[in-house]
Amino acid sequence: MIQLYQPLNFMGMVYREIKQAIIDIEKMFDVLERNPEVKDLPGAKPLAVSTGSVRFEDVRFAYEPDRAILKGLSFEVPAGKTVAIVGPSGAGKSTISRLLFRLYDVSSGRILIDGQDIKTVTQASLRSAIGMVPQDTVLFNDTIRYNIRYGRWDASNEEVEEAARLAQIDGFIRMSPQGYETQVGERGLKLSGGEKQRVAIARTVLKAPPILVLDEATSALDSHTEHEIQGALERVSRNRTSLVIAHRLSTIVGADEIIVLDQGRIAERGTHARLLGAGGLYASMWNRQREAEEARERLAQVDDDG
Ligand code: ATP
Repeated sequence: MIQLYQPLNFMGMVYREIKQAIIDIEKMFDVLERNPEVKDLPGAKPLAVSTGSVRFEDVRFAYEPDRAILKGLSFEVPAGKTVAIVGPSGAGKSTISRLLFRLYDVSSGRILIDGQDIKTVTQASLRSAIGMVPQDTVLFNDTIRYNIRYGRWDASNEEVEEAARLAQIDGFIRMSPQGYETQVGERGLKLSGGEKQRVAIARTVLKAPPILVLDEATSALDSHTEHEIQGALERVSRNRTSLVIAHRLSTIVGADEIIVLDQGRIAERGTHARLLGAGGLYASMWNRQREAEEARERLAQVDDDG
């Protein structure tokens, strides 16, 4: 029996690995298809992560030859710290996260992780060192447990539930018809943008990568959801090198450094307090968002009263 079981067990493992690979390929298909030039160099070595520091050195990038998107970008995310990138729509913020994940190669300059140029290491090792919480999380037509375990297939049920608790989605799951066995997706339970993002955070908790990249959803969230996601993120990013691509400035007030990107260049950088004091682009973005939020809350109040 054992003799029969072991190969089956092995095949199960292989099956899961292939399935994960297929899912990853599906997600990146679009990008890879346009990008056959992103390849492992001959003899590429796995990335050796020591502390997990990230460094952009004079990075330039264009999707199309004559339209520069990043025009010489240098910054560092020291090990265990949080750096936030903010700026107007189209400034190139999400492009930074795509380059770090090496979905595209830089046109010039370098991106280093613990001193190693990401172009010289294997893509598989690079991607396993980075936890991505994307703008839109893909959920599979399977149970919510499966969807969280996608972060690490060999996680135990207890670990899945612990990750859900950390991501502040455990309460929601327990209230669902069949708890962790509830089907989600097209024919199952539909999750809101904020709930999906918390599933992505739970996956990342399971994966426990040394580097975290959060690409915040552009859509406005109600303040309760935002607060929950904020709490979840603070827990996951604690002591982990984190790069946050932020659309809502309220979520990055506590970042160690905020980089304000404008038309592919760093326009300002500093802490929230320093940037507000400087009265520049960040301060005017902050004031505009505050006014918009106050107007939204007044409208919500009118709705509630009416
Ligand atoms: P937002 O706040 O609206 O998400 P962003 O600062 O994250 O914007 P990016 O997504 O980095 O901006 O895009 C920067 C610029 O690159 C935009 O002008 C966008 O149109 C362009 N761009 C993005 N992806 C591609 C692509 N695959 N091919 C060509 N141009 C692209």
